[in-house]
Formats: sequence, C-alpha cells, structure tokens
Amino acid sequence: MSRRSLAIDLTVNRGGIRGRFAPSPTGALHFGSLVAALASFLEARQNQGTWLLRIEDIDGPRAEPGATDAILRALDRHGLHWDESVWYQSQRQDCYRETLERLLHLDLAYPCTCTRRELASHPIRAHDGSPIYPGYCQNGVCQPGRPAAIRLRVANTPVVFQDALRGHQEQCLEREVGDFVIRRADGLFAYQLAVVVDDAAQGITQVVRGGDLLDSTPRQIYLQNLLSLPTPTYAHLPVALDQHGYKLSKQSGAAPLDLDQPGSALWSALHFLGQNPPPDLNGEPPTTILAWAHAHWRLEQVPAVPAMPMHR
Ligand code: GLU
Ligand code: ZN
Repeated sequence: MSRRSLAIDLTVNRGGIRGRFAPSPTGALHFGSLVAALASFLEARQNQGTWLLRIEDIDGPRAEPGATDAILRALDRHGLHWDESVWYQSQRQDCYRETLERLLHLDLAYPCTCTRRELASHPIRAHDGSPIYPGYCQNGVCQPGRPAAIRLRVANTPVVFQDALRGHQEQCLEREVGDFVIRRADGLFAYQLAVVVDDAAQGITQVVRGGDLLDSTPRQIYLQNLLSLPTPTYAHLPVALDQHGYKLSKQSGAAPLDLDQPGSALWSALHFLGQNPPPDLNGEPPTTILAWAHAHWRLEQVPAVPAMPMHR
C-alpha cells in the first residue's frame, strides 16, 4: 500500500520539529549507525520534537534478509523509540514514479542510455571518482532501444546551504557532479530522489546524519527546489573510523552492536559525539544514559570534522 505525499500524521504536535533516522537494511546496526540514530534522536527529543524511522529498502537486491528486524530490535534495545509508524521505501514506489513523471514532463529530467563502461572513459571525475556525465543524451538518447536510466538536468549556479555543524557549504552541480541518475536503467529509483520525496512527505524539518552524505545534500536541495518542497536544516556528523582508518560500514564488515551491552555502546556514542558523558554512566541501562543525554545534549559540542576514529 502506498502512502500519499500529504498523509502526515500531525495529530501529535510536538513543537513541530521532525527528525528521522533512515537506515538502509544492508546489515545489522554498527557503531557508526548508532551515532547517527542517537544524535538525530536527541536533537529531536530535546526540542520536544518527533523522531521518525524510515527503512530505506529501495535497493531490493542489496537488502539483507532479516536486517530490518535486526535494526528495529537494536534501536529498541538501545532505548531509541521512534514515533508514528515505520515507513518503508519499498512501499513508496508510486510516489517516486509520480515525481519522476513530473520531472520528465517538465523536461527537468531525461532518459540516458549510456552504460557505465561507456562513461568510464570520460576524463572528468567528481570528488568520489565517478565520471561527471558529459551530457551525451541531453538532447535525445544515444542508443534508442536500450534500457534507459533517467538523469536530472543540473544547473550551473551554486547550491548554497549552512550545515549546522560543518558551516557554509557550496557546490556547483554542473561542474562538480553533473546530471545525476534519479532512476537506474534497471528500474530502481535512486537514493537521491527517494530521500527527497520521503523527507518532504514525512514533514521532516531537520536532518542529522553521517558526514558521508554531506556531498549529496546539494543534489537533494536542488531537487527540493525544483519540486517546490521545503528544505530541512542539515547537520552532518563525523564519520566513525575503525582502527585502520576505514569508515565503519556494513560492507567493510563493521561489528554489529552487542545487544547485551547497550549501555556501553550508548556511552561510547555520546563520547564520540563530544558530549563528555561522566565515566560512571558507562554501562548503565539505556534509560539512565538517555535521561542524562536528554538533559545535557548540545549539538554544538559535536566535533565539526568529516571523520574521527571510533576509539579516541
Ligand atoms: N539510507 C542512508 C544510509 O543508510 C541514509 C540516508 C539519509 O540519512 O539521508 O546511508
Ligand atoms: Zn547518456
């Protein structure tokens, strides 16, 4: 069943602030995801706001069976209780399709048949190493008959925003990103499109998430502007690194949270977030730690850096 864009439950008006945690169910929660969950939770709760949970299971092939249940269980064990019902991106395809059609109809997006291989030889690359799309299909697909991705036309004007932690941000999409894919050739909707549609549909006013997504934010703001959707505030947290300096991720085999030690993970996450939790709080039950965190949480104390070792 798909939920329509305006189906926001505003019956409980908790100061109007709406935050969210939006994990992809590619594996169990690890320390890095707990940091994002906890910071977004505390930022919403301290402002008497609402905290929502959205499972970003849009990429069916990458979803790991059982991961969603494991995520819900881990959040619950750590005392991070969400409001309203959980949203699943797999149930929201109709809304993404509708938005995509609108963009195509306005000629803000176009089909592209270029393959990854064809683009790999293109010399201009974005920060993340991916080639900047050279625009081959901008005025009609190069290879009619091939399955087509849909790309969004970007502009040459900078997208500017103020990140609550990382400060002034500016990106010229045309120069630094290029026309980007909003639906893949295999029919899957891209994260950038789904996240924008859902943040708006859930009435999200503040996004607190990992710093690895800072670079995606201008694309999301650009899309919000095209679709006349409001732009939430953004705060990008430091990415947690393992002892080898790699980002903790499910793909790189980060250890899942130990559900028998929630008090120690919560304490470490608060410590990582620069909140100086008292040492004797370490290992206390989640309710005790969260009560302390609720009273003392200050976003400004979170280090404004792209990444930090998890043990410091
Ligand atoms: N689903 C994304 C992830 O797990 C996060 C999306 C977001 O917070 O905007 O990396
Ligand atoms: Zn193309």
